[in-house]
Amino acid sequence: MTAARRFIGDKLVIASHNPGKVREIGDLIRPFGVSAIAASELGLAEPVEDGATFQANAIIKARAATDASGLPALADDSGLAVAALDGAPGIYSARWAGPNKDFGDAMAKVEKELGDETDRSAAFMCALTLAWPDGHVETFEGRVNGVLVWPPRGEKGFGYDPAFQPDGHAITFGEMEPIEKHQMSHRAKAFADLVAACFASN
Ligand code: IMP
Repeated sequence: MTAARRFIGDKLVIASHNPGKVREIGDLIRPFGVSAIAASELGLAEPVEDGATFQANAIIKARAATDASGLPALADDSGLAVAALDGAPGIYSARWAGPNKDFGDAMAKVEKELGDETDRSAAFMCALTLAWPDGHVETFEGRVNGVLVWPPRGEKGFGYDPAFQPDGHAITFGEMEPIEKHQMSHRAKAFADLVAACFASN
């Protein structure tokens, strides 16, 4: 395997319009002397995410932001993949919540689709892409396995968190303290690989 390209620079565009994500990524890269600029600060449009995989969509978002800004950019794409539903909702995780972004509805839809199915295994997945203006990209993936519970439990997380119990734990991501979730999540794992490959000093 060839070594990942190191990031040398002091500014990185975060290709997300979610202020929470921009803040989280900013905290992560600050120790390396890199500041995060939100795509929204630069007035960048959100591209159409028409990739077939988390990786493809992360690459689309990162490339669009770097092409529009001329700066390196970082994007992530994530979602819930349910084994017995052939990986659904997958890249459509946000869309299953409908126009009102109601994740109670989205979790109920997953439960309804599963019906009597006894295999309740699922995984949260995350793809993270760092793109450079010359077209080079580096992509990292993180995954956390677990089972779906019904009814959903806990109000600490977001999205599908209340319905997801990570393997080895008796509580859902919705019941878990954010600090604990952030140490073991799909996003945390992808970030750890990205930092080790592209940011950590030799
Ligand atoms: P996006 O990549 O920001 O578009 O996120 C896709 C969707 O996946 C989110 O809207 C959530 O519904 C779901 N998702 C991704 N990560 C998590 C998580 O850590 N907890 C709960 N839901 C998540």
